Amino acid sequence: QSRLLTDYDEIKALGSGAFGVVVSCKSKIDETSYAVKKIAIGDEEEFKFDRVRREVLIMSQLQHPCIVRYHTVWLEPFLAGLNNLTDDDDEGSSSVSNINLPHLYIQMELCESTLKDVFESDKIMTEPLCWSIFADVMNGLTYMHAQGIMHGDLSPANIFKCGDVWKIGDFGLARNVNDESDDKVIQSLDMKGTYKAPDENVDCAVDIYSAGILLFVMILKMKPITDMEMVVAIADLKNRGELPEEWNNYPQWQLVLKLVQRRPDLRSSARTLLNIVSAYSQ
Ligand code: ATP
Ligand code: MG
Ligand code: MG
Repeated sequence: QSRLLTDYDEIKALGSGAFGVVVSCKSKIDETSYAVKKIAIGDEEEFKFDRVRREVLIMSQLQHPCIVRYHTVWLEPFLAGLNNLTDDDDEGSSSVSNINLPHLYIQMELCESTLKDVFESDKIMTEPLCWSIFADVMNGLTYMHAQGIMHGDLSPANIFKCGDVWKIGDFGLARNVNDESDDKVIQSLDMKGTYKAPDENVDCAVDIYSAGILLFVMILKMKPITDMEMVVAIADLKNRGELPEEWNNYPQWQLVLKLVQRRPDLRSSARTLLNIVSAYSQ
C-alpha cells in the first residue's frame, strides 16, 4: 500500500505539470496538510530522474519565508491501486509498461493558489498588491541568487500564495550556476515563452528578466486589458524596450526597464531591487 494512502487523508488533485501530478493531503500523524508532487521515474528515463533529483536537491537546500518549503521525499514502486486516484498517466495506453515504474513523492508546504489563478480570476490587481508580490519574489530571489541558485522558470504559475506571503516554487528548471556538471542545454530548451529571457548564457540574470515581465504584467492588470492588448504591450517591451505611454506619469513603474535590459549584466540585482521596492510595498 502506498505511503500516500496509509499515512495521509483527504487526498485531492491540485494540478499537474510537465512531469507529474500534485495533490493536497493531510498527514494522519501530524494532522497538517501538505502538497505532494508525484512523479513517475524509471531506469530508461535517466534524464528525467536526474532532473527530478536536482529539483529535490535544490529545494532541500533552500529555507526561506519566500520560497515554498520542502519537507521530504520518498520513493515507491508503482502501485496499481493508486492509479485512478492520483495517476498522471501521461502515456495513456502505455500504462501497462508503466506498471513497474517507481514513483518519487515530493512533500512540500501546501499553498492556497498561484499568481496565475489571480490573473485568471476577475480580481483586479492593485498597486500595493503588485509591489508586495514583487517584493516577496525579490526577497526569495535575493536569497537563492546569493547561493548561486537560479530558478530558470519564474512565471505566474510558479509564484504561490501562502497566507499573506508570496513564495517562489517549482524548482524543476533550477540550477546551481557554479556547478559545472549541471547541464545548461536543458535550461534553454524548456522555459515558457512569455517570461523567457533572450539570453544565450543562462545564469541568475534570466530570473531578473522574467521578474521584469512579471512586474510589467501585474501593473498592466491593474486596469482591464484584453489578451490582444497584453500581447502587443509585451512585444513592444521585449522588442523595443518601450513602456506604454501613459506610464510616463508613474515614475515607479519605470522600474520594469531595469529588469528587462537585453544585456544581462545591465539588469539590476535582486538585492538592489528588493531595497528599492521595500519602500513601495509598505
Ligand atoms: P511545470 O514545470 O509544467 O510548471 P511541474 O510538473 O513542475 O509543472 P509544479 O509547477 O510544481 O509541477 O506543480 C503543478 C501545479 O500543481 C501548480 O501549477 C499548482 O497548481 C500545483 N501545486 C504545485 N505545488 C503546489 C504547492 N506547494 N501548493 C499548492 N499547489 C501546488
Ligand atoms: Mg510549474
Ligand atoms: Mg516544473
